[in-house]
Amino acid sequence: MRKHIFYAGPATLPVEVLEELQAEIADYHGQGISMIETSHRSPMYDDVHSETTALFRELLAIPENYKVLMLGGGGTLQFAMLPMNLLTAGKTADYTLSGAWAKKAFADAKKVGQARPIWDGSGSQYNALPDPAAIKAPADSAYVHLTSNETIGGVQWKSFPATGDVPLVADMSSDFLSRPVDVADFGLIYAGAQKNVGPAGVTVVIIRDDLVEASPDNLPVYLSYRTHAEKDSLYNTPPVFSIYAVNKVLKWLKGKGGVEGIQKINTAKASVLYDVINKSGGFFSCPVDTSVRSDMNVVFRLPSEELEKEFIAGATERGMLGLKGHRSVGGCRASIYNSLPIESVKALADYMTEFKKTKG
Ligand code: PMP
Repeated sequence: MRKHIFYAGPATLPVEVLEELQAEIADYHGQGISMIETSHRSPMYDDVHSETTALFRELLAIPENYKVLMLGGGGTLQFAMLPMNLLTAGKTADYTLSGAWAKKAFADAKKVGQARPIWDGSGSQYNALPDPAAIKAPADSAYVHLTSNETIGGVQWKSFPATGDVPLVADMSSDFLSRPVDVADFGLIYAGAQKNVGPAGVTVVIIRDDLVEASPDNLPVYLSYRTHAEKDSLYNTPPVFSIYAVNKVLKWLKGKGGVEGIQKINTAKASVLYDVINKSGGFFSCPVDTSVRSDMNVVFRLPSEELEKEFIAGATERGMLGLKGHRSVGGCRASIYNSLPIESVKALADYMTEFKKTKG
């Protein structure tokens, strides 16, 4: 029996996609060769590569003046690549410190150039976010960075600051393509695939043309956005397996009604769990401010660490995996990305209710 997969990433994939990959893995469409054995310069792979870029464009209605890059290195490489390309001399990068991932991005920016916090959630233990209207980009800002969804803390921006002429940059690693966003509001968006759009290996960067142009000339070749923009992400060998699988997930997503369709499903899934938490009389508790609770990573605590251990062990016995909170914060976390069926969420909700009845 297939498990209920609540891992934070790599995460569950649509079973239809896995089955399609299985059917094609040794022989792609009767060509006597698989997609992962062919050259990344072959027409066979090129079709998948260009179709994947086109699917991203279609699903997010990406304007013409943006490039879609498919890179290696994860979200983590973007923590460094972003300031290397966009943090030009005499400017300062502004970071909203919303939690663990934002702080990592900020730490790398400070190694590259001048960076400062424009907002810091430490006062609320990173359980809240600012009013987007309160974020005003200073005149000397190179860009304003935010983490649209904090995978560990479970806070999610529900709307975004307007930063005027200063580019807004978002790490969307854990809520990419889970809801509509207006790409034109951003200068750059980046996201690893391994949560909402495919297996680990490929990281998507959506970047406005003028920012590609402004990137310095003296960067090592891989680290320059221009390198990848000029070669359609084929300067070097791209993560072909990942892109091939992402291609199928994107088609699956289209079948779900695209980002508008999946957002409805995601909100419904999240509210099933938050309802159980809210109605548990404090047995389950979510520390996150109700207005910014994540639809992707539902974090919650039980009355004691012993009960949390018991809860997670019981969940594992029932085929529910990945519910342990991140090692840095403890507690429980249910990651309920695009591909997780609502049946899995209902199974968890039923188990939570039953657990509370017997232990509460
Ligand atoms: N940003 C966020 C919000 C993340 O959740 C993660 C990974 N969990 C990263 C960045 C780092 O991504 P990667 O592991 O792909 O480098």
